[in-house]
Amino acid sequence: MSKSLQAIRGMNDILPEQTPLWRYFEGTVARLLDNYGYKQIRMPIVEFTELFKRSIGEVTDIVEKEMYTFEDRNGDSLTLRPEGTAACVRAVLEHGITGGGQVQKLWYIGPMFRHERPQKGRYRQFHQIGLEVFNLDGPDIDAELIIMTWRLWGELGIRDAVKLELNSLGTSESRGRYREALVEYLSAHHDKLDEDSQRRLKTNPLRVLDTKNADTQAVLVDAPKMADYLDDESRAHFEGLKARLDAVGIPYVLNPKLVRGLDYYSKTVFEWVTDKLGAQGTVCAGGRYDGLVEQMGGKPTAGVGFAMGIERLVLMLETLEQIPEEISRQVDVYLCAFGEQAELAGLALAERVRDQLPNLRLQVNAGAGSFKSQFKKADKSGALYALILGDDEMAQQVVGFKPLRGQGEQQSIAWDALAAHLATCVVQG
Ligand code: ATP
Ligand code: MG
Repeated sequence: MSKSLQAIRGMNDILPEQTPLWRYFEGTVARLLDNYGYKQIRMPIVEFTELFKRSIGEVTDIVEKEMYTFEDRNGDSLTLRPEGTAACVRAVLEHGITGGGQVQKLWYIGPMFRHERPQKGRYRQFHQIGLEVFNLDGPDIDAELIIMTWRLWGELGIRDAVKLELNSLGTSESRGRYREALVEYLSAHHDKLDEDSQRRLKTNPLRVLDTKNADTQAVLVDAPKMADYLDDESRAHFEGLKARLDAVGIPYVLNPKLVRGLDYYSKTVFEWVTDKLGAQGTVCAGGRYDGLVEQMGGKPTAGVGFAMGIERLVLMLETLEQIPEEISRQVDVYLCAFGEQAELAGLALAERVRDQLPNLRLQVNAGAGSFKSQFKKADKSGALYALILGDDEMAQQVVGFKPLRGQGEQQSIAWDALAAHLATCVVQG
């Protein structure tokens, strides 16, 4: 196929054999968030470029080199969203739903776009489920976010394969003092830093902590630690969070190098990481961003949130073989009809059954075909039962009911009794 007719590198089709697992994952998360009292919000996929520059920060990887930015026909600079927090904050400000101090617990799902080097677990269009809470400033809500994800990993059967890493970045005042100390220390070791870190030292020094370069990492061993610069308020907040995680029994490790890629975090930051996916090990990440709403023109508003990468979590379910059996079967019953009269009767019968059993997954054979070919399709569909309408059944106004997975003999069921019979043998989702 010519290149122009292929999908863009790093942007994937999710094929029909993959969508059941995606829907299972998304459905599990949606139900959990409903149960904890979170409400869904849906934002556009495109925003003014300025929004991301203002919120994410000019000197972050995302804004410096990963955004899909273009001019629209009016000459406005637009960007495909690289993450969801900026648009969510814009939306709550625009609609005035946080300005009076109202608590909002929101979540969203959808595609995000970053021009990164595509590899396993890292794509240019990827999908996130994200969550943001506004106007709650205590550690109790930070804990709730983590507790919810912990429950999710449990429901999905992947709890043993993920680890929680925690850090506190403090208030902006304590972070400012820490930044000064870090810059002073790193400047004294300037020559031993890699080029990227030398540049970050000037633009965004905390990001040096995040380096993958071994020489720079060696320099960092003796660098000042954020934990020693936390003010009382940040320290109390962090202790409050840890106490709640301890109370619920959620294990964590403190990672003083965890700074997150975005500029807007303060106090709590966390990541759920796994060693099952190779280099792309972070499956969910978030933190508190109490300064962001004000930075974007709103009143001072506490905020905390996280985002999880759906591709990486789906990959984990596959890698750990945590795929529930029922999601692979998509048909309960397959109706085969032979001859024109039987086809008409079959259609009408199928609709009557659907009226009574709206959750039954009933597939009616299309494209006619011989006895043998229809049976083959019935079997291939994965259905538990085939329904058969041929000349004999038509004459007696019954339908043949044939178990396809070895649970007994074929029997005849009167048309009127079919729905009631199916209700007893098919567990409906
Ligand atoms: P990473 O360190 O892996 O680049 P990040 O810090 O850039 O992640 P966030 O912006 O915090 O990621 O996004 C939250 C989650 O979204 C990540 O933990 C990850 O699971 C997922 N994610 C981020 N970028 C990608 C991508 N390019 N492809 C697939 N998933 C991604
Ligand atoms: Mg990244």
